[in-house]
Order: sequence, then C-alpha cells, then structure tokens
Amino acid sequence: TYFKDLGLAESVLRAVDAAGYTTPTPIQRDVIPAMNAHSDVIGIAQTGTGKTASFVLPILNRIAARKKRHWPGTCGALILTPTRELAQQIAEQIQTFSKFMKVSAPVVVGGVSPRPQIAACAPGVDIIVATPGRLLDHMASGAIRLDQTLQVVADEADQMMDMGFLPELRKIMLALPKGRQTILMSATMPPQIRKLANEFMTNPTEISV
Ligand code: AMP
Repeated sequence: TYFKDLGLAESVLRAVDAAGYTTPTPIQRDVIPAMNAHSDVIGIAQTGTGKTASFVLPILNRIAARKKRHWPGTCGALILTPTRELAQQIAEQIQTFSKFMKVSAPVVVGGVSPRPQIAACAPGVDIIVATPGRLLDHMASGAIRLDQTLQVVADEADQMMDMGFLPELRKIMLALPKGRQTILMSATMPPQIRKLANEFMTNPTEISV
C-alpha cells in the first residue's frame, strides 16, 4: 500500500512526500481510509506507530475539499490531547502536512495567556488542538463554539482518563453536533474508555496495531 492509494488529496500527498514518508504505517493504512469514509474510529496504538499522521492526514483531506468559510468562533475539526506538549507536537505535524494548503490550526492549552488564543480562534478556524480544561474555559466565555465541528479526535484517551479529564471530555462531547465524526486514540482500552466510546460513538471501526 502507498499513500496515493489511501484516497488523499493531491496537496496532502505532496506534503507527505516532502516530509520524506514513503510507506504508510499499519495504523495509517487502516485509519486513513476509514476516516475518509466518514466512519467513527477507535484506534488502539502506542506512540511511535504513526498514529498522529493517521488522523491528521484525513482531517487535512477534508479541509482540502472544503469550500465554505467558517463562522466566527467555530472550528471544523477539534483534536483533544492530555498535555500541552502533545498538543504542540500535533500542531507541528499539522504544519508539516498542510505545507501546500492554507490551514488555520491554533493551539488552545493552559499555562499561557488566553488572549492570543481568543484572537486566533475569533474568525473561525479549520482545526483547534486543545487540552480539555482551557477549551472549556473558552467555551464558557463564548470565545469558542463547537456547534459547527465536523470531526473530533480524542488522542491518548487513556492518558486523559488517568489525568482525571473524564468529566471535561464528556462536557465537550455533549457540546458537539450529533452528526460529527468521532475518533478515539488510545494505547489501552480500559472499561471507562469503552463506556465513553459506547456513549459518544456510532458503529466505530476498531483498529488495533
Ligand atoms: P507518532 O506515533 O504519531 O508519534 O509518530 C512517530 C514518528 O514516526 C514521528 O516522528 C513521525 O514523524 C514518524 N512517522 C509517522 N508515520 C511515518 C511514515 N509513514 N513514514 C515515516 N515516518 C513516519
């Protein structure tokens, strides 16, 4: 399997090539077509398997096909992470793979001033990469709305559970439109995460590597 067989847009494929990726990893080979087919996906994968690109590339693929503008304060896709560091790493991969597109993807995390985040999100953006607590602050103040969000990814979901983010995660899920696509990435599948998946996902395709 090659990246060109996975149904990705030309602008995304060019960036994959420029990044020096030649062959998709097993998780990418399975997750990318499932996401392109609008399926909900549970991906059971550790760091180092290429899991980040497996959800970033299909998100960019949808953005590449998009014609509509965003409403103020909304985002087309939302990526949730347990830590600021992980959010930063994901944002870097978004930069790498959106090299030949125009994509707005601000990072919304705690520990830094909320003001630049509010300004960055105000016009409406393609992707928000966020930690749950700070995102909820912005939702409470009205700076960010999730009612136009088409795709949500919970990355390292087990880590988020361990850090006590379950109530925040549920609040965020409940604020998203019913018809959105939901992706859950986790190294392990404890019962709590299984329950979350049952509650917030529709016929998920389960992919384990
Ligand atoms: P991740 O599991 O997403 O943290 O990715 C682990 C590392 O593998 C990152 O440094 C990626 O840049 C790299 N990587 C991911 N997919 C590929 C691929 N298909 N070919 C080469 N390197 C990759």
